Amino acid sequence: MLDTYGGFCLAIHGGAGTVPVAALKGAAAEAYHAALRTALKAGWTVLNQGGPAVDAVAAAVVELENDALFNAARGAVFTSAGQLEMDAAIMNGADRAAGALAGICGPKNPILAARAVMEKSGTVFMIGTAAEAFLRTENIQFMPTDYFVTPRRLEALHLELTRRAAGMPDTRSDADRHGTVGAVARDAAGNVAAGTSTGGMTAKRPGRVGDTPVIGAGTFADNATCAVSTTGTGEVFIRFTAAADIAARIRYAGQNLEQAAGDVIAELSAHGGDGGLIAVGATGAPVLPFNSSGMYRGFVGVDGVLSTAIHREAFRQVCQ
Ligand code: ASP
Repeated sequence: MLDTYGGFCLAIHGGAGTVPVAALKGAAAEAYHAALRTALKAGWTVLNQGGPAVDAVAAAVVELENDALFNAARGAVFTSAGQLEMDAAIMNGADRAAGALAGICGPKNPILAARAVMEKSGTVFMIGTAAEAFLRTENIQFMPTDYFVTPRRLEALHLELTRRAAGMPDTRSDADRHGTVGAVARDAAGNVAAGTSTGGMTAKRPGRVGDTPVIGAGTFADNATCAVSTTGTGEVFIRFTAAADIAARIRYAGQNLEQAAGDVIAELSAHGGDGGLIAVGATGAPVLPFNSSGMYRGFVGVDGVLSTAIHREAFRQVCQ
């Protein structure tokens, strides 16, 4: 269906931590579709005005970060110590410039903070309180911790800590376990970009960093191959350099984007990696494969039709 797609395009995800099909009906499902459409529109508006892919990616991710439905910025999950430690990265495929942050709490939009790292820090990857101090000098908007805290994520932490203390098996849904947001885009000039932002995994070990901010694992962009943003069990995505492997398959093995992304998902599956990814290449349609029960996701092209899906159902399509 997607392979006739051309021109500029954008794909987004709101993470592979989806609420189970049976529990996500009616208004609850509609809220997710509406949130995805808001993010698609924000990115599409940039692309439709001839703006760069990296701006479109940032605009889409900001909307997803601002929505407490998703595990990024407002609505982020907690560490086992009850803290918020957020990770984010952005990469521009035009020059392979990249900016990444790990273990931060404060910037309202970690994706914009990652962009400041990319453009202003003279480095690629910054962590923790020193990164926050740098960001305060760069006019990045900070919010009090309460802004990021939601009852749903506090409850998920409480349930998980109680389960661990009781030594019970882990029967949580993906939604209580993890999530992430991300976007990839190709602009009218043919440049690609990727951005990803997350709170990580519920009750993660303090100091644990997932795949999201690791360039080549959770986020990657190169005009010569593709732009990729992932979601899922970060440790496996890091060990298999998931995003960079898609690019390598295109570059060195002559695979097309769909084959490369599908093969990487299959390899992750074979090694306990649960989740999915979105990717866009120098030409053609975005691809959005996953091996989990669902992945909040959507895409839009030149025609402006907003396509969104959550589990394995057909995409809902809405004209702007
Ligand atoms: N990949 C994220 C992490 O490991 C979590 C997720 O996408 O569900 O931090």
